[in-house]
Amino acid sequence: MLTPHGRFAPSPTGTLHLGNLRTALLAWLFARSQGARFLMRVEDLDTGRVRREYETAQLTDLAAIGLDWDGEVVRQSERLDHYAAAVEHLEAAGLLYPCFCTRREIRDAASAPHGALPEGAYPGTCRDLTAAERAARERAGRPPALRLRAGEARVAFEDRLLGRVEGVVDDLVVRRNDGAPAYNLAVVVDDAAQDIGEVVRGDDLAETTPRQLHLGRVLGAWAPGREPRFAHVPLVLGPDGARLAKRHGAVTLADRAAAGESAVQVRSRLAVSLGLATPGETPDMTTLLARFDPTRLPAAPAVLGEDLD
Ligand code: GLU
Repeated sequence: MLTPHGRFAPSPTGTLHLGNLRTALLAWLFARSQGARFLMRVEDLDTGRVRREYETAQLTDLAAIGLDWDGEVVRQSERLDHYAAAVEHLEAAGLLYPCFCTRREIRDAASAPHGALPEGAYPGTCRDLTAAERAARERAGRPPALRLRAGEARVAFEDRLLGRVEGVVDDLVVRRNDGAPAYNLAVVVDDAAQDIGEVVRGDDLAETTPRQLHLGRVLGAWAPGREPRFAHVPLVLGPDGARLAKRHGAVTLADRAAAGESAVQVRSRLAVSLGLATPGETPDMTTLLARFDPTRLPAAPAVLGEDLD
């Protein structure tokens, strides 16, 4: 039977805000309500933006709202060999090609329609360069990224909250041009290695899931019947309808603490927004677990100042 092991996978590039905390709480509730293990994975590959202080602050905040996790925290920066092995596997299968495009070139090229690909998808500029074209680009000195030949695969999955989601997979990057493994590759390698049975994360990531499923399949990452299931949860929005951000006011535990509100009180607010508590009540984690029913979660995003104070 598929293990429902869950995980939370924050990127330590800032302080967690109420939206991140709410997603983390949900990931914990999904896993624990099924008696599953809950793992913590720090996605710290973006060396330009990652800071160790953020990691410490994020883990402290997650514990402060009552989350616990099994085993040691896993850091992606300590797993580079695994990602390199996956890239080699794809390379050996002839599924990769170097891409010399700049962000700007991709943006300009991707704004024109390209068959079945969604807007903004990589249009395949470098896919079929001739040897001479490739050599000329190499001579120009810009190091290439590596992209997967995805063949515009159409991939669908049944999300626990969103229902059927379908996407056409573009030629995604698996190794960035600075040599770092790409987010999609690292996530797939790790979710498989950690035997994650259910991925619970913000619904802003739903669109990348067909890519991850396709990549996992071509990597042979999962034994038959062991692909993870997905539950993409609604985000928290600011009063202006934009995704929650610092500019929306007191959105972190530190901001709330400065205003005299404890982490447990913040958790209660999150619980109210999830229909798991009534305002003013401070249910403990066991009570929240007992009340949690994934089929009754609000489907719409929570708006700060309306659904979440
Ligand atoms: N590290 C990603 C983020 O913080 C989440 C990745 C995932 O949950 O798959 O947005």
